[in-house]
Amino acid sequence: MDSAQRLAMLDAVEEAGIGWFWATDASHRLTYLSPSAARLLAPGRTIAGEPLTGLVETVPGEGGEGSDRPLPFLLGARNPLCDLTVRVQAGDGEMFWLLTGIPHLGASGDFLGYRGGARDITEAYRRRSDSSRLAEFDHLTGLANRRRMTSRLTAVLAGFRVAKRSCALLMMDLDRFKQVNDTLGHPAGDDLLRQVAQRLQRIAGAPAEIGRIGGDEFEILIPDMDDRGKLGDIAQRTIQMISQPYSIDGARAIIGASVGIAVAPYDGLEPDELVKAADLALYAAKGGGRGQYRFYSNDLKDSAQERREIEEDLRDALARGELEIRYQPVIRAADSKVGLFEALVHWEHPERGSINPATFIPIAEESNLVGALGEWALRQACADAAQWPGDIKVAVNVSAQQFLQESLADTVKAALAASGLPPRRLELEITESVFMGDIDAADLMFKRLKKLGVALSLDDFGTGYSSLGYLRKAPFDKIKIDQAFVCGCTEKDSTNPAIITAIISLASALNMETTAEGVEAMDELALVRKLGATNLQGFIYSRPASQADVLAKLESGDLEYQAIGPDRHRPERRTLFRKVGVIHEDSRYEAVLRNLSRTGALIEGLLDVPVGTELVIDLGEGQLAVATVRRSQDASQGVEFETPLISDGADGLCTRHRISPYSLAAAGMPLRALPPGHYAMPVIQGAPPSRPRFMQVDVSASSSRAA
Ligand code: C2E
Ligand code: MG
Ligand code: MG
Repeated sequence: MDSAQRLAMLDAVEEAGIGWFWATDASHRLTYLSPSAARLLAPGRTIAGEPLTGLVETVPGEGGEGSDRPLPFLLGARNPLCDLTVRVQAGDGEMFWLLTGIPHLGASGDFLGYRGGARDITEAYRRRSDSSRLAEFDHLTGLANRRRMTSRLTAVLAGFRVAKRSCALLMMDLDRFKQVNDTLGHPAGDDLLRQVAQRLQRIAGAPAEIGRIGGDEFEILIPDMDDRGKLGDIAQRTIQMISQPYSIDGARAIIGASVGIAVAPYDGLEPDELVKAADLALYAAKGGGRGQYRFYSNDLKDSAQERREIEEDLRDALARGELEIRYQPVIRAADSKVGLFEALVHWEHPERGSINPATFIPIAEESNLVGALGEWALRQACADAAQWPGDIKVAVNVSAQQFLQESLADTVKAALAASGLPPRRLELEITESVFMGDIDAADLMFKRLKKLGVALSLDDFGTGYSSLGYLRKAPFDKIKIDQAFVCGCTEKDSTNPAIITAIISLASALNMETTAEGVEAMDELALVRKLGATNLQGFIYSRPASQADVLAKLESGDLEYQAIGPDRHRPERRTLFRKVGVIHEDSRYEAVLRNLSRTGALIEGLLDVPVGTELVIDLGEGQLAVATVRRSQDASQGVEFETPLISDGADGLCTRHRISPYSLAAAGMPLRALPPGHYAMPVIQGAPPSRPRFMQVDVSASSSRAA
């Protein structure tokens, strides 16, 4: 091939755009660019003489040696350019080229410029970034998918560890999403998920990252956040937002959400450690009833295990007939006589003692045992009630999940038939959560049950997703005012009486009866009577009793119940017996925490600490609360916290911030998530330890004295 033929071949290659050539002078100005490329780059303009760096730039993260460095740097260092992906400003748009080049040296080794080639890879580049977008984002909601969340979390945690920064991970799971999917269909479920995603985006904007990591599970990653007060607020707001009604294709649906929170570096330093912690917290949140949030804490590890054990044992207990039903009388306000007994399932566990239904009913719901449990309870309660004289009724609790099973109406019918109990003597107690999910399906079930002739009451009113709208539509005969409103209704400044009054007037306007639940003290009884509750229930009349006891009472012919209880409601003080650390100067003591509120605590174990002394109370798991002694007598001190504690989502309290594992590491301890228990004080090197100022006394033996 002669040089004319070679030139012709290169011309053809250039013109076809298969490959282009370029060259620069020593100051990186273009001296040559294949004409077809130049036309694309700068139509109608001569490009010779323009600096190369003004025309193209590197694309970081795109491979090619040195791609993370800016082009001027690479050229300045006279590096060879090897398959470098560059972005090229071409007319109004942009193109992507693969650039190669080598420094061109003169005979004496002096640098004359670059010579190289280039190729258009725009289409392949676009395809590649689209597919990596697909691989990283959830097609349904457009949120990050699990893969992207994992890689973001990994990157954030690695970077933040170096910079000693914090990062929170919120894990959210929708409650009863399955019901929407099952009853309204999958397209409706998809629509709902998209709406959930939109609401989440409104709550958590940048720099937070939101992802959908599976069916109805979402994650929110919030960098530089370790304030548990703020995190609790965010979780609470998220739950509220998600629990507002949705409109899907003309149908209305309500769902709920539970949130678990873990914070790096406190609860985990590695991605999987943090995810596991958030997961356990979520699990606990769901277990505590729906619509709650929880922070991770070390003892959740045990409670997850405990739940699994309870689930297994419950399965056995049900099969072996170890559950029992107890009956609590509901008293008519008019004549103080019993008109109805509420059936409450009771479980005496051979090792754990009695386990509350509030603990095991949610477990039964989650493990699909609630159907069998509910059917058994219905049959047993109807059979027992059929033995009661006269017209006395029985009320059976029906869980929301059971309510939405189509078989419920048939189950009720069969239980009535088997026992011979007339339908008007059976009442079903249903909670507001049946309105979550598909409301039309709930309506249908209401109609079928009413047709059977049983009564319906709305249990625990006011605690859940209260919407007064459905009260008017649903055929309830009775509203049960939750004990949360009754308890403490006589306390000063309580808003409960106003709420109770509102519920009662609403009920009477709708021709419904009311039952005040959980009445314990005489003053509460007097108040709810005065406010007009038509029925009364609570320990003040009777705790739930066995069928034998109920029969004995009824056979005596005396249907009246006497109120027996304390005169006044006593505000609940959390009485505790928990070991805490107390730090004063550089001494550390052990004490027992007797009670704890947001603003202070009562501790026992240090003798004669003067009022005004500043202490640090170590509540465990890195929670240090600065406190001042306000009252002091012998070995017990009332202390006031400098910063009030905050809710931990459950009914516990925690400090807003924790001691950072980074500072512990700085004091010579291994860097790891906060261990359970108390924080060991790093020894301050060089400083002679001061003598302990207070005498520590053992209070574990004298526990009765604190009361
Ligand atoms: P609930 O239906 O609101 O039942 C009332 C609960 O309050 C019962 O708790 C009862 O023992 C308790 N209680 C009654 N009076 C007082 C009082 O004066 N003070 C206090 N502090 N508590 C009082 P229990 O038996 O632990 O049941 C808890 C919940 O478990 C029930 O709440 C109900 O929702 C559910 N449950 C109980 N049995 C069944 C059942 O057979 N099926 C279903 N699905 N749920 C059940
Ligand atoms: Mg009930
Ligand atoms: Mg109740």
